[in-house]
Amino acid sequence: MKTLIHGGYLIAMAGGQADVVTDGAVLIEDDRIAAVGAAAALAEHAATADRVIDARGQAILPGFVNTHTHLAGALSKAITEDVPTYGGPFRIALGMHENVIRREDVLLPGMVHGVEMLKTGTTTINECWWHQPQSARIIEAVGLRGIVAAEIREVDSSKIGFGRIERDWDERLVEEGLAEAQDLFENWHGRANGRITCRVAPDGPDRLRPPTLARLGELARKHGVGIHTHLCSVPGEAEFMQQSWGKTSIPLLHDLGLLGPDFIGAHCVFVDDADIAIMQETGACMSHTAFLVGKRGYYPPMDRIYRSGMRVSLGSDWLSNDMFKVMRSAIVIPRALFRDVGIRNAADVLRMATFDGACCLGLAHDVGSLEAGKKADVILVDLRKAWCQPLRTANLVANLVYNANGSDVTHVFVDGRLLVEQGRLTHLDETELFAEAQAVAEDVWARSAHLFAREGMA
Ligand SMILES: [Zn+2]
Repeated sequence: MKTLIHGGYLIAMAGGQADVVTDGAVLIEDDRIAAVGAAAALAEHAATADRVIDARGQAILPGFVNTHTHLAGALSKAITEDVPTYGGPFRIALGMHENVIRREDVLLPGMVHGVEMLKTGTTTINECWWHQPQSARIIEAVGLRGIVAAEIREVDSSKIGFGRIERDWDERLVEEGLAEAQDLFENWHGRANGRITCRVAPDGPDRLRPPTLARLGELARKHGVGIHTHLCSVPGEAEFMQQSWGKTSIPLLHDLGLLGPDFIGAHCVFVDDADIAIMQETGACMSHTAFLVGKRGYYPPMDRIYRSGMRVSLGSDWLSNDMFKVMRSAIVIPRALFRDVGIRNAADVLRMATFDGACCLGLAHDVGSLEAGKKADVILVDLRKAWCQPLRTANLVANLVYNANGSDVTHVFVDGRLLVEQGRLTHLDETELFAEAQAVAEDVWARSAHLFAREGMA
């Protein structure tokens, strides 16, 4: 199967550079990119291509790489956004996930989250939570590229109550998580033409005892894969770690040998200069959940993090997955917080959402930029919209990042498969999926009525 996309504004992100070719083209052969360049140079392929897409007025980009997601988070959408981390709705959401939501409840709402990701231009996700064989099924069915990891915890997260020092350690949770990880490695690692791979995911350093963390490090080494975890993500984490183990999260993980270029930590809000230095020196990566953390009323010290040279990518976390929102948040929130307009610009965040994300996940050989030989994960974004017009070509990247939205994505290819065409899914019935997912969600919320009632909420 040969596809020629031509005539659009090509932003290939080769080497991470957001350069624009105004009349660009991409040639796809099967699952890989065969050629990238000026439309005139690739015009000869129009005669032999099975499919030719006229991309005039549209940007041609590599698909976004979202380095921290939870597909099951669809069931918590709009429940926790307006409350602080300790607030009741947060307890409801975690209580639901820990004690009400069953394996079979995750599939359809998770599909909706996956569809949101795909339709807004994300082609690769780094996913963890529990019931992860379901996430693998979702990734396979939606057509995304995904790294999946069973999130392994040693404590019921709805009982931590963030800021509490006591933990009711529960070894059974670890055994359950390890069994799920085993299932993933046996049945999903390398599946779907290599689109699905697996990692090891400790829930967070404050939710497992150090010997268990060390055990997970060994598991990752055994499989030759990286580690994905929440890191310095909630108030009270540092105090808990210090009081319990005499060390905060990042120094402890470093001592246990878990930090390195194949380590990715989400959030990194409550970090000090020593933490940042360790992350930078070990080559460990951060998933900056720029939109999510702002909702919580706190933010990582991005001024010091960027200055350190620490490796940073972008993640959405669990509620809302449009990477345009994440990119914009990664510009405007730190600008306002640190009174520094120069902290990050449109080209920087576009690089973080594509090339840097691929580097952080160890996938730069295949995705993150449009280059001959790489996987054909390609998106088109329609700029013929009032919010992007009039369009000055020299400022195209700024126009795209500040003004376009995920809903302006018209075409999405993953692994050379055209999954979104003219804004519509080519392989799934969205209307039917929404109806089915709504029924599952309403059932979950009904079964969670005691949690809502406990917080005095309807
Ligand atoms: Zn998360």
